Amino acid sequence: MTMLTDRPPTAGRTSAEVELSGLIKRYGGTVAVDQLSLTVPAGEFVALLGPSGCGKSTTLRMLAGLEQPDSGQVRLSGVDVTGVPAHRRDIHTVFQSYALFPHLSVADNVAFPLRQRGVPRAEIRSRVAEALALVQLPAIGDQAVTSLSGGQQQRVALARAVVDRPGVLLLDEPLSALDRSLRQAMQVELRLLQQNLGVTTVLVTHDQEEALSLADRIVIMSDGRAEQIGTAEEVYDFPDSLFVARFVGEQNELTGTVDERGRFGHPEVTIVGDRPEAGPSIALIRPEHVRVGPISGPADVNAIDGIVRGVSIAGISSVVLVHCRDLTLLARVPRDGRPLPHVGDQVRCSWDTAHVRIFRGES
Ligand code: ADP
Repeated sequence: MTMLTDRPPTAGRTSAEVELSGLIKRYGGTVAVDQLSLTVPAGEFVALLGPSGCGKSTTLRMLAGLEQPDSGQVRLSGVDVTGVPAHRRDIHTVFQSYALFPHLSVADNVAFPLRQRGVPRAEIRSRVAEALALVQLPAIGDQAVTSLSGGQQQRVALARAVVDRPGVLLLDEPLSALDRSLRQAMQVELRLLQQNLGVTTVLVTHDQEEALSLADRIVIMSDGRAEQIGTAEEVYDFPDSLFVARFVGEQNELTGTVDERGRFGHPEVTIVGDRPEAGPSIALIRPEHVRVGPISGPADVNAIDGIVRGVSIAGISSVVLVHCRDLTLLARVPRDGRPLPHVGDQVRCSWDTAHVRIFRGES
């Protein structure tokens, strides 16, 4: 973990603005991070999201000072800290592995950064109590950390990360070792904690649900670059590229050609979508935007008839699989009490132009 011995005593009172500009990091022939620029205003929660190996952790490590960029700068509240070692940056990192001291009690683990900085005993006691209360662990300060569950240990690690009120909190896949229900509960708590503290936070995750539900803005990364930076709505509803559209959420994907009139022609169906540019293209429609209804009259644009081949319940929605000649469409239908179609039913799948995204390219 980061030692805070040399940190200026006044540090950590306010959250910091983070500015990464033109960061490049190579490992031999591999370009791990490639011209990455990102500004995170003070108090914002940003998630770096992308497939394994896209450069998320390397970016976080350069921000933390655990790795030096080959070029580019890291600034904290306007101050260039590119060459400044990790322990002199006003940043604390929480790792997936918790990195707690097994021989110390819960309270002593949390107190560690304050002791390193020579904070008076009485203040340590009150600040540790405050940090444990923040992570909902007020009554277990005397216990050994080894006696705690995984979820509790992660809370202790969080309490230790925020006890000294760092300017920036970095979270490196902090919840991925927890089971699904605990992870979801911790996500809610983490968001509340971050909002209460108002601390600038950068989260690394490969879990899109986690990124979409926690962060104010999401950086979708691919091959060391930022493919898109935006809110959950922006990256989900208005993906800038096929990569982002495919990475975030589910889709029905159709390959065809856009004609001069802006209509997407597929052998089975004609689609009208957003910003269609003539040429070979891929049309994407999210399953929740596909309506499944009765057939009446001939199917026009943005509609195709087919036969239901599968219906399954998936939590708050049902998934309906429809075979439309050579096409298979997936529809996610809300479970709102209306009757679901049955396997074998003849149905019409339709959608709105506003929900179709068309990208140039061939699959
Ligand atoms: P992510 O966190 O998105 O999974 P990383 O930042 O860990 O991605 O890695 C990005 C790329 O850099 C990968 O190709 C990885 O193999 C490579 N890489 C990361 N760290 C090192 C290292 N210490 N030595 C050599 N290659 C590395």
